[in-house]
Amino acid sequence: MFGLTLHDVATAPHPIGIECERCIRRVVVTAATLKARSGDRRTLEEAGLVCSRCGSRVFGITRFLSQAELRAFVRAR
Ligand SMILES: [Zn+2]
Repeated sequence: MFGLTLHDVATAPHPIGIECERCIRRVVVTAATLKARSGDRRTLEEAGLVCSRCGSRVFGITRFLSQAELRAFVRAR
């Protein structure tokens, strides 16, 4: 999903999964991790999110519908 905003992260019921499209590093981020607040319409790209391994700014974003989906995402790395 492209163009997810900090508002979306802040109001999502679960953390957000991010996969770097260059090095395939997977991380799970929370609103607290990103200092996301509801009403903040900047996208994750605009907020300066970068891969901590390779520095890429191109990500695939996964919104989880359950804790089970979240765990599966982390296990599949
Ligand atoms: Zn990367």
